[in-house]
Amino acid sequence: MKNADKNRKRLLSKVTYNNKCMEYNGAISSNGYGVFYLNGKSYNAHKASYILHFGEISNNKWVLHKCDNKKCINPNHLYLGDREQNTRDAIIRKRMASGINHGTKTKPKSFKRCNSILSDAECLKIKSSDLSKINLSKKYNVHISTIYRAITHADELLKQLEEK
Ligand SMILES: [Zn+2]
Repeated sequence: MKNADKNRKRLLSKVTYNNKCMEYNGAISSNGYGVFYLNGKSYNAHKASYILHFGEISNNKWVLHKCDNKKCINPNHLYLGDREQNTRDAIIRKRMASGINHGTKTKPKSFKRCNSILSDAECLKIKSSDLSKINLSKKYNVHISTIYRAITHADELLKQLEEK
């Protein structure tokens, strides 16, 4: 990364400390994340912070918040993950819960049945698990058909979130 020192200083000059969070006080985009220009390209400020502190990241990786504060660019509050992890973490923290619980009309039948036994977060965990279906059904103490429904349900959740 060219001019990393200079850019890091520029980024950190736009920060307000809030507890341990470093909130970006520059431009904020409609998705709630800061906007920071790095070598002519626009980045989410927290992603720019991650890159400037830890180096470049591959395209399929997301920079995620441990602190759930979208404006925070404290490198110690950031970690790398993938898209499903991002969705799962968001659901676990209930950030998106209100969005998912609306629009019951369009929800597939499996939703309710799955949801009554396993939480959304568990369905997503099941989907991204490396365990076999049988082992998953043992782990969660549910019938194997519930595991299949959980995976279908997780797909639906991810789709709903993508459509947003
Ligand atoms: Zn933070």
